[in-house]
Amino acid sequence: MIADTVQTKSICELYAEAEHERVVLWSDPNCGYRCVIAIHSTLLGPAVGGTRLWNYDCEKIASLDAMRLSRAMSYKNALAGLPFGGGKAVIFKTCSEADREQIFRAHGRFVNSLNGIFITAEDIGTRPSDMEFVNKETAWVAGLPGRSGDPSPMTALGVFRAMQACATYRWDSSDLSDKTIAIQGCGSTGHNLALKAHEAGAKLIVTDSDPNKMQSVIKETGASAVAPDEIYSVDADIFAPCAFGGILNEETIPYLKVEMVVGSANNQLLSDEDGDALAALGILYAPDCIANSGGIINGCRELLGWDKATSKQKIDQIYDRTLEIFDLATVEGLPPHRTGERLARRLLGHAVDN
Ligand code: NAD
Repeated sequence: MIADTVQTKSICELYAEAEHERVVLWSDPNCGYRCVIAIHSTLLGPAVGGTRLWNYDCEKIASLDAMRLSRAMSYKNALAGLPFGGGKAVIFKTCSEADREQIFRAHGRFVNSLNGIFITAEDIGTRPSDMEFVNKETAWVAGLPGRSGDPSPMTALGVFRAMQACATYRWDSSDLSDKTIAIQGCGSTGHNLALKAHEAGAKLIVTDSDPNKMQSVIKETGASAVAPDEIYSVDADIFAPCAFGGILNEETIPYLKVEMVVGSANNQLLSDEDGDALAALGILYAPDCIANSGGIINGCRELLGWDKATSKQKIDQIYDRTLEIFDLATVEGLPPHRTGERLARRLLGHAVDN
């Protein structure tokens, strides 16, 4: 789907539409490192965003993903009231495991060349030990071992609070004990979310393309399992996308039987029109840039020196922020994803359509 968008537009058109401050490509032929860093906005502070290492079909698709993800980071940070802009790094996956130190040291030099306007951390395909290599070349890195730690449990906590807000809005009660939740992805965030939902008494249906990850959630929660392409059509109250972005689209949405969608994945909607389609079906959608902001809020322990209690309290407030967006959406007569985006754009000084 993203590939379709890429094929029909030139890279210059894609850059122009995305409204980024900078999109920079860097390579180090000595070790095969190639990377794009997209900086969407630094209006509110340095652009903060993870470094993703992934095997994309082509560099144009990787660049588009970096732009989409960095814009989502800007919106996420703005809506959470954090003094950061949004950025994202995508390393094109050509390196072998043996090259890891060279690759991430080259990455550190690239990040350092941006003089602090971009601060990175781990993301899909990278781990805290990679950030230690980055840190040998630059101070502009977070998520180091022994600091704020794995953000996933805190991201999952935020998603759970957003889910409770959705339940309050739709069912007048945050109690999830008689609800069925379908979770796509049993990785770091999906697993932690499953534990929280199980603790709250919810019934779970899970899927993952990796059977081992799925089995471990089943063992700990008694969840039932379905094949990856069956998760959209299960009988459930809530769908929680916790794997990849773009999975809410014209192919998948018609299968949904749930009343709400709340998950950790970034950029769950392939396009704004897909959010409109959810609203037209009466499916309440918690904008992902609010629901999954627990990870970056947890990162403020490292980035801003917050203590654990402060970051936990701010993550709890995701409940209130989600309800505020729903209330504002009602006032504006718009679906919540459009209201969330409008509010974020106003905070970033970008133009907003009437
Ligand atoms: P992860 O890599 O630990 O887990 C993703 C899981 O999805 C893996 O188990 C993988 O096997 C599975 N998966 C991949 N394709 C699938 C498919 N088609 N169907 C079913 N399962 C599939 O990643 P994560 O850290 O849990 O992050 C998940 C999403 O949440 C990502 O979009 C990420 O950007 C976003 N996110 C994560 C954090 C965080 O703190 N980790 C914070 C904010 C946003």
